[in-house]
Amino acid sequence: MKYAMCPNCGRRLCKGEPGTKVEIECPKCGENAVVVIEDNDMHIHKKPPLTDKPIHQHA
Ligand SMILES: [Zn+2]
Repeated sequence: MKYAMCPNCGRRLCKGEPGTKVEIECPKCGENAVVVIEDNDMHIHKKPPLTDKPIHQHA
């Protein structure tokens, strides 16, 4: 089990098994986040509030 933390405020959001992908809204700050749990890694990204079309960004 791995714990996902809010990318905005650090609140613990959820836990899950490898292979899990979830979208979750932080109950503390309202941040929408996408959590992807892999075997030995975990990715958390902020989710943009507008989701009608894909957003491609280059850093
Ligand atoms: Zn938060």
